[in-house]
Amino acid sequence: MTAPILRRLADLRALTTKWRSNGEVIGVVPTMGALHQGHLSLAAAAKAYCDRVIVTIFVNPKQFNNPEDLANYPRTEHDDAEKLAPYGVDAIYVPEPGEIYPDGFSTTVMVTGLTDTMEGPFRPGHFEGVATVVAKLFLQTQADRAYFGEKDYQQLLVVRRMARDLDIPTEVIGCPTVREPSGLAMSSRNQRLSPTGLEIAARKHAIMQRLADRLTAGEPFAPLADGARADLTEAGFSEVEYIELRCADTLQALPGADRPARLFVAAWAGGIRLIDNIPVEPA
Ligand code: AMP
Repeated sequence: MTAPILRRLADLRALTTKWRSNGEVIGVVPTMGALHQGHLSLAAAAKAYCDRVIVTIFVNPKQFNNPEDLANYPRTEHDDAEKLAPYGVDAIYVPEPGEIYPDGFSTTVMVTGLTDTMEGPFRPGHFEGVATVVAKLFLQTQADRAYFGEKDYQQLLVVRRMARDLDIPTEVIGCPTVREPSGLAMSSRNQRLSPTGLEIAARKHAIMQRLADRLTAGEPFAPLADGARADLTEAGFSEVEYIELRCADTLQALPGADRPARLFVAAWAGGIRLIDNIPVEPA
């Protein structure tokens, strides 16, 4: 059975108020729809722990720095509801834009520091858009726990910091990235890749994993990053925006894998911007 779709905050509140008064633990999975196995794994993780699970679907205009990307973002609400049916989700919240940004909306949530690098400079305004909408979704759903993918690792840390700083009592849980058999991280944007673009994109994970293994073997990062950049170009990526080795907790740049770290890559394949990251075991 598909879960009820709610479009109004008042309807959502009526449900969550009832759940809370029964002492039920509420989990939320914020998404922009076009659901794939990555999103569904978050719904499964939420359902395994929480009494009630809300999946939100909102294509948030404020987090798109590129209007074309926003216009082309896939919208597949009916299919999304069907895909969620086997997961026992209790409600799908698809707010009308006015429920999130009513007329005269004037507030922006900005997290500094963590947003100064990687996705931050390449996507001006993106993290403000994310932090603002996620703060609203946490408050609107009254969730005890929120499930986010490590696929967007920097976002995961930003959202966790935002909730902590603002005393929003929603615990932010990170879940592992779900990948295609090739290693390609699942992403709604993959749908927009041509067969050739998909082939190029599928080569990224192996290049990243080779780099990570050599870091764990104790090699310094800078020459390995140069090599990986060349490998990605050779594989057909048109532009490599960044390759970074960062501390897994603070995102501080590291010269080598001297502590638990993550390797981050942003690169373009077939006209689509793809990001990924993997854990790097310390040397
Ligand atoms: P999006 O709809 O792309 O905004 O993503 C919604 C949530 O799903 C975010 O927490 C993402 O990190 C997460 N997500 C997206 N792709 C994956 C994936 N391949 N594996 C795990 N989580 C993912």
